[in-house]
Amino acid sequence: MEYKTTIGLEIHAELRTKTKMFCHSKNDPEEKKPNVNICPVCLGYPGTLPVINKEAVKHVLRVGKALGANLADFTEFDRKNYFYPDIPKGYQISQYKYPLVSGGELAGVKITRVHLEEDTARSSHEKGDYSLVDFNRAGVPLMELVTEPVITSAEQAVNFARELQLLLRYLGVSYANMEKGEMRVEANVSVSKTDTFGTKCEVKNLNSFRTVEKAIAFEVARHIDILESGGKVVQETRGWNEQKQETYSQRNKENAHDYRYFPDPDLPKLKLSDVPELLSAELPELPAQKRVRFDKEYGVKEEDREMYIFDQKLGDFFEETIKIAEDKKLAALISNYITSDLAGLQKNNPDIDPFKNITAQYFSDLIKMANGGELSSRGAKDALAIMFKEGGDPKKIAEEKGLIQKNDEGELIAMVQKIIAENEKVAAEYRAGKEASIMFLVGQGMKASKGSANPQVLKKLFETELKK
Ligand code: ADP
Ligand code: MG
Repeated sequence: MEYKTTIGLEIHAELRTKTKMFCHSKNDPEEKKPNVNICPVCLGYPGTLPVINKEAVKHVLRVGKALGANLADFTEFDRKNYFYPDIPKGYQISQYKYPLVSGGELAGVKITRVHLEEDTARSSHEKGDYSLVDFNRAGVPLMELVTEPVITSAEQAVNFARELQLLLRYLGVSYANMEKGEMRVEANVSVSKTDTFGTKCEVKNLNSFRTVEKAIAFEVARHIDILESGGKVVQETRGWNEQKQETYSQRNKENAHDYRYFPDPDLPKLKLSDVPELLSAELPELPAQKRVRFDKEYGVKEEDREMYIFDQKLGDFFEETIKIAEDKKLAALISNYITSDLAGLQKNNPDIDPFKNITAQYFSDLIKMANGGELSSRGAKDALAIMFKEGGDPKKIAEEKGLIQKNDEGELIAMVQKIIAENEKVAAEYRAGKEASIMFLVGQGMKASKGSANPQVLKKLFETELKK
């Protein structure tokens, strides 16, 4: 029998609020100077008292609603006691017995719970034979989501984490950038040949989707190796070594009772039904709903749709262009120009904000010109590049740069006759049955018109002229 992999994720996300979880210090993830957004409360001074940030509670309840989970009526905060310089109070305020949210589901993965806690200070040990502690992050509201052990592969784990990141962004509750530590993933991994779960290891500090995938794959292989050689997996907490591309043992797993959890006597217990404003938050359209709607309304390629789901600005631009164009039949063409041409320009010019220069109105005009044959696809791409860098009306740009495609047969016929007269040998070949020769003549026509003639129209004209 094959080994089955079991994974459960614990994901932390820093919440977007003006101030910290229990004090008035600013919650600013962009602050670069250490120890600026601090006060006696988040520095853990004795004698200070915490006050609950309502917006943070609301955020977690929004997440709960979006997951279709149970929202607690009764909730409280607990002290999780441990000693470390990043938590000078000697305890972290967290939730243990009564999380705000329990149950629910996302991307086919069952959720155990979502609770609210405070982030710790950031310590760095790189500098020399001393360590530095930055308290800007101390006390920032942090939600922790725990999944059931129902994930069966590294890919599924990554997919879940990506969906959660999207959801948090759509809800506006977190920026959830992994490289900035705003979203942090811990993976619990075990393998087993039977229906009983194997011993799990927890891998911490995974700060990109790639490392989540690689760390899980590494653990699965490591566990199988141990078991195959007759050994036993030791339950422990492990870290990820980016240089060596492997996990390493950090410490033996501590148990919940080591933390001496108990309700924080400085904070009130909450009965949420007594605070109706906490539960009143409306949800925006969520990623899963948007997928269904996009498929129904526009039917663009899955790849394109996913770009719009991931990049909401791009998706809004797509929808606005279609609305202005008043023609859903153009959806595929519009989508093509957005996802390949516009996205390509965006990628090569990361400093330019495309939506500053290109309006949906002008973009719609451009697509209509391309669709109507006024612009060749080459001409449309050139016009778009100019619009991207300088802005402007595609009609004017196309006229100024001589990109308008000539479709008018009357205008082109004299040129066609002249080319035939100058290329009698090729014309004779065509008349004798060598059909491919016509492409040479069309090529001459494109050259003579400096690319402005519509090649389809030219070909048709040559055919009629040569049959005379
Ligand atoms: P602990 O008591 O060690 O903290 P929990 O039961 O609270 O363990 O689970 C923590 C995380 O580990 C959850 O995401 C859960 O789904 C996952 N998990 C639990 N048991 C296993 C297992 N045998 N294999 C993989 N993941 C597991
Ligand atoms: Mg646990």
